[in-house]
Amino acid sequence: MNAVCIQCQSLFAIESMRYLCDCGGLLEITHNYDGLDAEYLKPLFASRLSERNSIYASGVWRYKELIAPEIPDHAIVSKNEGNTGLYETIQTTQYAGIRRLWLKAQSENPSGSFKDNGMTAAVSHARYLGCSRLACTSTGNTSSSLSMYAAIAGLDAVVLVPNSDISPNKVLQTLAYGADVCSFSGTYDDGIRFLEEHANRLGLYVCNSINPMRIEGQKSIIFEIAQDLGWVLPDWIIVPGGALSNASALGKGLQDLYTLGFIEKLPQVAVVQAEGAQSFHRMIEAASGNKCPAAGAASMPFVPEPNPQTRASALNIGSPPSWPKAWRMLSQTNGVSVTVSDAEILEAKAVIDRSGIGCEPASAAALAGLRKLVSQGVIHREQTAAGILTGHLLKDTEAIKEYHQDGRWGDLLRNEVRTIHLQTAGSI
Ligand SMILES: *Cc1c(COP(=O)(O)O)cnc(C)c1O
Ligand SMILES: [Zn+2]
Repeated sequence: MNAVCIQCQSLFAIESMRYLCDCGGLLEITHNYDGLDAEYLKPLFASRLSERNSIYASGVWRYKELIAPEIPDHAIVSKNEGNTGLYETIQTTQYAGIRRLWLKAQSENPSGSFKDNGMTAAVSHARYLGCSRLACTSTGNTSSSLSMYAAIAGLDAVVLVPNSDISPNKVLQTLAYGADVCSFSGTYDDGIRFLEEHANRLGLYVCNSINPMRIEGQKSIIFEIAQDLGWVLPDWIIVPGGALSNASALGKGLQDLYTLGFIEKLPQVAVVQAEGAQSFHRMIEAASGNKCPAAGAASMPFVPEPNPQTRASALNIGSPPSWPKAWRMLSQTNGVSVTVSDAEILEAKAVIDRSGIGCEPASAAALAGLRKLVSQGVIHREQTAAGILTGHLLKDTEAIKEYHQDGRWGDLLRNEVRTIHLQTAGSI
């Protein structure tokens, strides 16, 4: 296990606390998979599904050989993350307009979002290195997750939270677990820039997704989907794009599955951004139609969005740090990118909520984007797909109020509570 720069291939030991190469490139973890293949690993991973009392009960550490084999078991900080449901409902499949659609409810993670899959790996790595002060900046879910794992491990967490456009529920969850919450004026992008410049001097271990260990942990999402479907993946995987860590991890996880012989061909991936925060999509479009050329990422001028603005607060990012990895992933999977409006996101969210699964706005971008790609004929009606639902319904309760305030339950929402006289309720 090493960290390698994706731009200039410089190598760094995983004992080093670095997130960017001297050349500015992102780092990524490389593994030595000698002696490992699907034939050996499939029964091993299957046997761990019945574990209850070891790290293998986790839906991340079940795949330890492919995630962080060098981190000793005693350093691992886990809360049985992963193990989330994969659901197929009539409402969501019909809304998408395709033959079959599975939704991976990452909302069912212990802190309520997919960030736990990556955070367990980052916090375990920090404990392995002996770092005691952990930090992140966040639109909310990363900080909730870090605060939870730091509490479990008995480590300090400092979180930098933008003072606007984020869900108060996430900030409350973060402070409840005990992190130091620093509210700042600016955006997620400003917070990342601050940590890139100052974290080392301040002795902070950074738990944002520029930390390549986060990406290793998040690979488990596609491993779980594949294992749940008998190691046969659907034609398409649909993922919302904010900082683009999820999209990057998906790409790396798919490569692992392919190289090790779990799957015979790569599914196509669609990244869905919000219209108000679509810098990545703009770059992909400019590249050539909607397809990425096979040239180096450095040749692709990426232009950040200075004023990102979307109701899906987890996607409200103007300069997604992982764009080169996400771009490479789209090239490798013959993938596409698409944008959806806030109205489309909220409508898709209502469908997911009414199907009984539920999610926060950003997650619903996956279904909204899928529906759009099907209507455009990019994804065919006879094809199959899996969408990643990133966060829990209760992460953004304001969004529920806003959507329903003019509807049937408007009175109830405006008064917060509505009382009826039970004596006259006989006709319910
Ligand atoms: C973090 C987050 C996203 C965006 O994921 P990236 O990896 O940053 O692209 C989407 N939805 C929710 C709920 C999130 O918490
Ligand atoms: Zn480099």
